[in-house]
Amino acid sequence: MEQMQNELPVVRTHKKDILIIDDMVDNLRVLSSILTRAGYNVRKALNWQMALTACKTVLPDLILLDIMMPEMDGYEVCQRFKAWELTAEIPVIFISALDDVFDKVKGFKTGGVDYITKPFELEEVLVRVQNQIKLRTTQLELLALNSELEQRVKQRTWDLEKALVKLQQEITISQSLQNKLLEMALHDALTGLPNRVLFIKRLEKALNRAKQEDNYHFAVMYLDCDRFKMINDSLGHLVGDELLIAIANRIQLCLTSSDTLARLGGDEFGIILDTLTDLNLAIQIAENILQKLSTTFKLSIYEVFMNVSIGISWGGKDYEKPEHLLRDTDTAMYHAKALGRARYHVFNPAMYQNAIHALEMENDLRKAIERQEFVIYYQPIVALSTGKISGFEALLRWQHPYRGLIYPTEFIPIAEETGLINPINTWVLQSACEQLSSWQNHPDIPKNLTISVNLSARLFYQTNFIAQFDQVLYHTKVDPTILEIEITESVIMDNTEEIKAILQELKQRKIKLIMDDFGTGYSSLSYLHIFPFDALKIDKSFVQLMHANKANMGLVPAMISIAESMGIAAIAEGVETKEQLAHLKDLNCDFAQGYLFSKPIEQKSIIDFLKSLPQW
Ligand code: C2E
Ligand code: MG
Ligand code: MG
Repeated sequence: MEQMQNELPVVRTHKKDILIIDDMVDNLRVLSSILTRAGYNVRKALNWQMALTACKTVLPDLILLDIMMPEMDGYEVCQRFKAWELTAEIPVIFISALDDVFDKVKGFKTGGVDYITKPFELEEVLVRVQNQIKLRTTQLELLALNSELEQRVKQRTWDLEKALVKLQQEITISQSLQNKLLEMALHDALTGLPNRVLFIKRLEKALNRAKQEDNYHFAVMYLDCDRFKMINDSLGHLVGDELLIAIANRIQLCLTSSDTLARLGGDEFGIILDTLTDLNLAIQIAENILQKLSTTFKLSIYEVFMNVSIGISWGGKDYEKPEHLLRDTDTAMYHAKALGRARYHVFNPAMYQNAIHALEMENDLRKAIERQEFVIYYQPIVALSTGKISGFEALLRWQHPYRGLIYPTEFIPIAEETGLINPINTWVLQSACEQLSSWQNHPDIPKNLTISVNLSARLFYQTNFIAQFDQVLYHTKVDPTILEIEITESVIMDNTEEIKAILQELKQRKIKLIMDDFGTGYSSLSYLHIFPFDALKIDKSFVQLMHANKANMGLVPAMISIAESMGIAAIAEGVETKEQLAHLKDLNCDFAQGYLFSKPIEQKSIIDFLKSLPQW
């Protein structure tokens, strides 16, 4: 069919071609002349053979076919034309003489479209021929249109298919992009581990399972690297990153494929130990992790040590939310840190109470600053050479609206953790200086009475520390030579150069520096030497370990001689008994402070206290 369409000269605009097949030459002639005159191109054939040859040369637009022919009758010829692909569609009009036995039904069945009877009626012949030619032309036009349509549909289909393929490619690309984004949203870029979001999701899943299955238990771990900041600060972030990856890899070695190891933040990791029957198994894994991390990490340039503190919680259906479980595990981790780092700690509910307590304390502390709930108590310091009071230590207290007087050991750590220590300590300094300057012209107060103020290590990291200090000095007009600053060893532990510079600045202002709680920190003696201290305050724990027996005085004599050899004063803190005082005098300790002389006293009682001229 397709081939025929291709070969057919589809619509002819020139003269229509009619092939007349009749064994009677007369008939041929008559018909031919009628049609030629009507403007058709007419060809003639006497039999099937001739007709076939004529069609092979040019395909006619119409065939007029006689029925009665000697060798092969019109029906047969018609059937052959219809059977041949090229001619099958050419309309055939049968011609029959009136006396012929013409079977119209057979004619139509073999494929004829019309018939004309002899003798010919001129008009009738023309009308019938014209009709068929018109029909055929229309049919051919339709065919042409059809084929064009088909062509167009094909082209369209092809275009669409192409567009579809492109679309599918785009979908695949955007799908993979989406997957990548999802992957990024749920994973940590550095280590490739699940991040906090995914970790919480998995925790939630484990919790839900625990609620449905009685026998299902799991454990959670929170790991925080010990002093990781030091690596970042000293060796740089790239080394820090390299180390984190190495740590993650070592931890992974201690876990099974069903466990989840996630990076929860900077140097924090979380673990879900899935399907555990016993908490002891979690403890074993924690011990294994600590052991694996205890050997050096050989990084590309450096070799470093790094261990972690681990909090462990037992996950079960009692927890409502994954965040609560994580919070408790975090609390346990903090306990591990407080207990000395590089160890694990298992959560127990009391810790939660402590954490809540700390949170409440923090909230109250914020309000306390606004409401000015802080007060300073002053504890006298006695010069052992004269037995008279040489000065006071300013000690902070918090007058809590319903919990009463709170001691600094309870709230200073929280204030330091939250940064609230900065305004609080500045306030203490300001108040102590105001006190000093109000004493300067008081008749009952010796001129050189000192006040020592405890400053938290955090304060030294404030960029405007010295400027603030100068402002206080300027506004209170205090004589700086009678102001003393007490700092603990933790201040000089880190960042030596900067701290040294700040301490030098204080020295230039003639302020005295006291090393507080001497002996409880980690500083080495060589360290002590580089800083410009004026006195060492021996921690009360050492003073209280001095026994009645002279031969067993503990470390106090050594500490006093250290101060002596450095050419600075020794102050003993926490003196509670006469024996301790006697020993300290024997040892030539310069100053002492403790309940034996006086507990810290309220500001309003100081004048009376001094008027009584106490002496020991
Ligand atoms: P610290 O500077 O070593 O202060 C001495 C602590 O020992 C004071 O406790 C004092 O009341 C106590 N103490 C004095 N004599 C005796 C004694 O004979 N026996 C015993 N057992 N204890 C005695 P307090 O006032 O509770 O202060 C505790 C710590 O809080 C201070 O230790 C100091 O480190 C810190 N602190 C106090 N006030 C401030 C402050 O204004 N700023 C900062 N940053 N820290 C402060
Ligand atoms: Mg002190
Ligand atoms: Mg002290």
